Amino acid sequence: MGLHKHQTNSTSFKKGMTPWNKCKTVYERGNRITVNGKIVYEHRQVYEETFGKIPKGFIIHHIDGNNKNNSIENLKLLTQSEHIKLHHKQFKEMTQ
Ligand SMILES: [Zn+2]
Repeated sequence: MGLHKHQTNSTSFKKGMTPWNKCKTVYERGNRITVNGKIVYEHRQVYEETFGKIPKGFIIHHIDGNNKNNSIENLKLLTQSEHIKLHHKQFKEMTQ
């Protein structure tokens, strides 16, 4: 039994950096508030208090575009890609 077990240390793979042009995320801006010592976005907090936890990768969008209007009727749960599309559309309309 003279077997030497060689530890294969092949875990030195580099973490690939995600290119910016590949996944561009439009984060919703808004008021930031402190809840239990944590800084959170007010619109996300309002949504979570009403409907529960926001799934990972989802964004809370302000329907009227006013990110100070954090009433629940003004908040909409969107996927990141839906959100990007929506804001690109708004941006195009604004610049036309
Ligand atoms: Zn938005």
